[in-house]
Amino acid sequence: MNSAPNEKLLARFEGCLLGLAVGDALGGRFEAQSAEHLAARFHNVAALIHYPNDELWYTDDTQMMIGVAETLADYGEITEVALCRAFVANYVPTRGYGRGARAVIEAMEDGRDYRSVAEQYFPGGSFGNGAAMRVAPVGLLFCDRPERMRLQARLSSLPTHMHPLGIEGAVLIAAAVSCATRATKFASDAFFEELLDTCTTTEFRRRIESASTIRDKSELTSLGNGIDALNSVVTAIACFALTPHSYDETVGNAVLLGGDTDTIAAMAGAISGAYLGLEKIPARLLDLLEDGPKGRTYIKGLAGRLFDVYSRKSP
Ligand SMILES: [Mg+2]
Repeated sequence: MNSAPNEKLLARFEGCLLGLAVGDALGGRFEAQSAEHLAARFHNVAALIHYPNDELWYTDDTQMMIGVAETLADYGEITEVALCRAFVANYVPTRGYGRGARAVIEAMEDGRDYRSVAEQYFPGGSFGNGAAMRVAPVGLLFCDRPERMRLQARLSSLPTHMHPLGIEGAVLIAAAVSCATRATKFASDAFFEELLDTCTTTEFRRRIESASTIRDKSELTSLGNGIDALNSVVTAIACFALTPHSYDETVGNAVLLGGDTDTIAAMAGAISGAYLGLEKIPARLLDLLEDGPKGRTYIKGLAGRLFDVYSRKSP
């Protein structure tokens, strides 16, 4: 895929972070509902997209993404100390964090050994989608440095997610964001080929291969809608690849799958926003997105700071 001209890149950085936040906030309204229930309530994607008429609040997905983006904007790279500090500084437990995530972040806050707390809650390491949901800024900043991107995505996972599938989920979302950020014209074959090259586990390779054959939204359910990375990361990627021209369709299809709606829509929205740019995210939803101290204005500025770091480092 060809590279996007630089002047379009800022809109893509903004589209990615705000696309994630809008997807998360819209999906957050329907977390854990079933696809059948959602289908009975919303006859199509347009009905879902037009449904909200009051303020949209984001959840832990966006809050942790902000921590990743702040770390990259401040230091130019992920270091575990800075990342944990950012997670703690942003932490509002009522934003929908899982029980294990709360325990790990509270251990960081108290200066306790958070890795052993993570091990207690998730023996063998968490294989949830918590590292994948927050990793998009890594895909943006290192969009033309694939090796660095993979290493940084891995580093951004480790404080909370040590299981190979939890880490690989994050690396794949970062890779999808990178690919979408660079592409001027989406080419499905090249996109999935790049993701297959990124895979190190058989489980994810098989899932990506299945996703690459999907031609209709009815087939998306076969990829899963759970809170584990294997059953949500590729689902989000496939939602984007099926409708790369439309943020509404990508995020709407993700939400209507039910299950872990906020995280799947957040990941799909990040990739879609990175490809389409900020202007293709419905203005109505952006206007409804909360705008407090770390709301939409802050997130847009954070994307700008990340873009400045990218511009300084790029030749
Ligand atoms: Mg959430």
